[in-house]
Amino acid sequence: MNQLSYVHQDQSAWNNYLTQLDRVAPYLEDLNDQLDTLKRPKRAMIVNIPVEMDDGTIRHFEGFRVQHSLTRGPGKGGVRFHPCVDLNEVMALSAWMTIKCAAIDLPFGGAKGGVRVDPSLLSKRELERLTRRYTAEINNIIGPQKDIPAPDVGTNAQVMAWMMDTYSMNAGSTVTGVVTGKPVHLGGSLGRSKATGRGVFITGNEIAAKIQLKIQQAKVCVQGFGNVGAEAAYLFAQAGAKIICIQDHSATLYQEDGIDIEALQHYQHTHGKIQGYCPNNEIESTQFWKIPAEIFIPAALENVISPEIAQSIQTRLILEGSNGPTLAAADDILAKRHITLVPDVICNAGGVTVSYFEWVQDLASFFWSEDEINQRLDRIMCHAINTVWDKALDKNCSLRTAAYIVACERILIARKERGTYPG
Ligand code: GLU
Repeated sequence: MNQLSYVHQDQSAWNNYLTQLDRVAPYLEDLNDQLDTLKRPKRAMIVNIPVEMDDGTIRHFEGFRVQHSLTRGPGKGGVRFHPCVDLNEVMALSAWMTIKCAAIDLPFGGAKGGVRVDPSLLSKRELERLTRRYTAEINNIIGPQKDIPAPDVGTNAQVMAWMMDTYSMNAGSTVTGVVTGKPVHLGGSLGRSKATGRGVFITGNEIAAKIQLKIQQAKVCVQGFGNVGAEAAYLFAQAGAKIICIQDHSATLYQEDGIDIEALQHYQHTHGKIQGYCPNNEIESTQFWKIPAEIFIPAALENVISPEIAQSIQTRLILEGSNGPTLAAADDILAKRHITLVPDVICNAGGVTVSYFEWVQDLASFFWSEDEINQRLDRIMCHAINTVWDKALDKNCSLRTAAYIVACERILIARKERGTYPG
């Protein structure tokens, strides 16, 4: 059984997005008449992916690519391989990419893809065949100027390399800029794999200073120990915080004096899970949200922070490392309880920001140093965080609504300026 506690499968991610969008309407004034454009995806593709398994049988998988908005530039967003992927989820994830890219001010629209599959049950060859056939099926709607996929839950640099190769074989030339999050040898960017976790840390630092919360000795709980959660935990620990609880799909690990993150990362790389690292410190998964800690970082899947959790959680700061972890009704309760929540569309935007750098480097065929990348990431994220913080103060609203105001204004002004084809 999946150990990630309180996953609310009855809630639809797309409905959660629509509720978030409704909350921005009162602030948009005359742009409000354009808001409907964000209430439906521009384009959604459902594909059937037949895959020859190693035993010679053919299995069929369902795949998706949704382009929510292309108003500000090509679509941008990851590809998720997970057993819970469906159209509703991919639509929501694509819409959050639209808001995220606009909130950070990257010249992209929003898109997302996914295949309903448990990649851990496939051999490497099966995974490659699945990836290549999926890429071939969505080939016509992706491209460096159309829509640029990247890694998300269940995919990684190797999957991006296969996607890039498949697209290139069809194009008849090597097109590195069609995906981001590739291996560095293939036009990938230095710093990309750690960028989302780094962005969560940058956000945490910046906001902690504003609410007079000391990172040094702060207790931190992290849900998810993948690419995002592990790097964020590592950077917080380096800065002197105590990571007292980590939960992944296999176990919930609690250690009052702080978990040794590097040792746990090492264990996780060899075992693929955190279970068994320190069995004496494993606790019931349902205890996770009950632990008092200054900072919580949800970095796994969506719909985990329900109104009940929002009511009882004992914390000061929630940093959304994953996409869509908080239900809209829970947002209201957290706000009433004066718990600061930094929304996904800002907090986890480090990944797509370095994806943008990767795309720019690929198009220019000129590559930057890791220092340069991290400095630019820091600058762009801090600017976005402060813009959203000031907007929230000015409008007396939550940081999520403030991020949506900033993003929607940018998208809807662009929409208005472009006009409606055929005019
Ligand atoms: N999957 C990541 C996200 O949700 C990164 C997307 C990208 O780099 O395009 O933000």
